[in-house]
Amino acid sequence: MTGVPVLHEIVNPATEQVVGTVELTEAAEVDAAIARSKKAFAGWRAISPGDRARLLRRFADAVDADLENLAQLEVSNSGHTIGNARWEAGNARDVIAYYSAAPERLIGQQIPVADGIDLTFHEPLGVIGVIVPWNFPMPIASWGFAPALAAGNTVVLKPAELTPQTALRIAELALAAGIPVDVLQVLPGKGSVVGQRFVEHPDVAKIVFTGSTEVGRQIMAGCAARIKPVTLELGGKSANVVFADSDLELAAASAPSAVFDNAGQDCCARSRILVERGVYDRFMQLLETAVQQLVVGDPRDEKAEMGPLISGAQRDRVASYVTDERIVAFRGSAPSGPGFWFPPTVLAPTELTDRVLHEEIFGPVVAVVPFEDEADAVRIANDSAFGLSGSIWTRDLARAIRVSRAIESGNLSVNSHSSVRYWTPFGGYKSSGLGRELGPDAPFAFTETKNVFISTKG
Ligand code: NDP
Repeated sequence: MTGVPVLHEIVNPATEQVVGTVELTEAAEVDAAIARSKKAFAGWRAISPGDRARLLRRFADAVDADLENLAQLEVSNSGHTIGNARWEAGNARDVIAYYSAAPERLIGQQIPVADGIDLTFHEPLGVIGVIVPWNFPMPIASWGFAPALAAGNTVVLKPAELTPQTALRIAELALAAGIPVDVLQVLPGKGSVVGQRFVEHPDVAKIVFTGSTEVGRQIMAGCAARIKPVTLELGGKSANVVFADSDLELAAASAPSAVFDNAGQDCCARSRILVERGVYDRFMQLLETAVQQLVVGDPRDEKAEMGPLISGAQRDRVASYVTDERIVAFRGSAPSGPGFWFPPTVLAPTELTDRVLHEEIFGPVVAVVPFEDEADAVRIANDSAFGLSGSIWTRDLARAIRVSRAIESGNLSVNSHSSVRYWTPFGGYKSSGLGRELGPDAPFAFTETKNVFISTKG
């Protein structure tokens, strides 16, 4: 420890103004926090299921009471539209409330055996390290910490360097609600310091990581060296497949929000649109109207549908994918002046090998390509290293089921672009991840199953 705090400036992406500073946690303090977490684990796991449930319900209520403050913090720290930010704070509240029911439902089995009884128990793992990206700071944090806490674990959480403010506030709310000291600690800092220490430290029992596939791969390798369990939620390049027999008006009107929501900084963004050739031209006309109607601007404005990108570096990265004007079909609008703005952009690549169809751009850029028939649609949809989400538009129910089963992806929606629901499982195929978050089984992913045989022989 140097003794001199290292401060990081928090920048509002819509204005480029500094809106605060945060102290970055150094390696020695990470170790101290993990030691405190380990100590707190003994007490937290011993709290009766009913009392742990009650504390989590109070925590959810505290988040609810602070919802508008949390949302405003996210608007100024992350540039999220106020409508989205309120949804995100509400999502964190609901996730905590949903898993508050879990302590009383971590039910084991009684398995028939000879000469005794056999029981299984779901034992908490210990200290869980949760590493969060900048794109959805509140929801993604809660998807990790809420089921982990419910199963009796303690949590050390690293928010993204760019977006620590709401996680820090949520930790304060947990304390105020009565969650014991050190059960949920938020440690802002660098991935290469705090995140890496979570992976390396022998007292961190499991890692939950959401972020880029590249860093996820490094984290998995680090965990493998220590036989440490890991859940990975990584990138995506999801397909929005539009058949000629679909409600084309609805498919086109909903396509922009499915990819441009959160300025495209969404692992589930439907960033490839596959359209049956016979209706391609009509779809593009309808899509152009919808993109031009998208309200891009000051995220504090209640009418804003899209805000800025998170940083200048991210804007440069996104812009590097839009250098060939020949494949730009059309663009929407974006403010000029300060802020990391990028207009919603629709590309029509001519080659299926174009990198805009394969790499995660993580910005408001979508690529549209035609397909010939059902088999061709499935082939193009699956021609990706990723497999996180996707949508299928058709009025033919049998086809909807066939194509849903054929696309290699963890989360599909038919005639809709359903967002992640906390009470259904979420996760990816292929390079999109490992394991599942959310849904009724999530707390079990934070436990070891213990089998105990008790002899009844006299
Ligand atoms: P990263 O994967 O680098 O960051 C995600 C989180 O991991 C952050 O908290 C980061 O910390 C931390 N981290 C970084 N390096 C390490 C490490 N060696 N050990 C442990 N933790 C680490 O994503 P970026 O922010 O750099 O975004 C780059 C691209 O990744 C995006 O453009 C997008 O394509 C993809 N991405 C995908 C996301 C998704 O939801 N699937 C979310 C975010 C990004 P720090 O903040 O200090 O960097």
